[in-house]
Amino acid sequence: MQHQIQKRYYMTELKLKEQGNGYSLGEIGALSCFAGKVFAKDVLNLTSMELSVGSLAAGEAVPFVHSHKQNEEVYFIISGQGVFTLDGKDVEVKEGDIIRIAPMVKRTNRNTGSGAFVYLCMQAKENSLEQCVMSDAVVEQ
Ligand code: ZN
Repeated sequence: MQHQIQKRYYMTELKLKEQGNGYSLGEIGALSCFAGKVFAKDVLNLTSMELSVGSLAAGEAVPFVHSHKQNEEVYFIISGQGVFTLDGKDVEVKEGDIIRIAPMVKRTNRNTGSGAFVYLCMQAKENSLEQCVMSDAVVEQ
């Protein structure tokens, strides 16, 4: 049991592995061993968004409610199941779900499953996207 606990908390930070001309590569290790929350912006020098990875153990909840001034958030559920409470309304989510939350919505989330609840959170300024996919891509070949 002690070993399992130590293994689960093996890596809870984003480490910069490599940096080159126009790229930054980080690692958090196997998601099955990840616990807690890490933010990528400062480690990878992101300039247009914040990206974080969160993992809540069974029975665990984010211990606060928050909203944002100008950034929308998109949560992509990687594994497990949970509930987002959005302005007091519970919304169930599970692996494979993607939920967008407007800046002013008061939010918190909790794990309602028996395994880890793991998700990516992307945060960017609402209405700031000017081009995407085919209008922004410059295809060389
Ligand atoms: Zn947030």
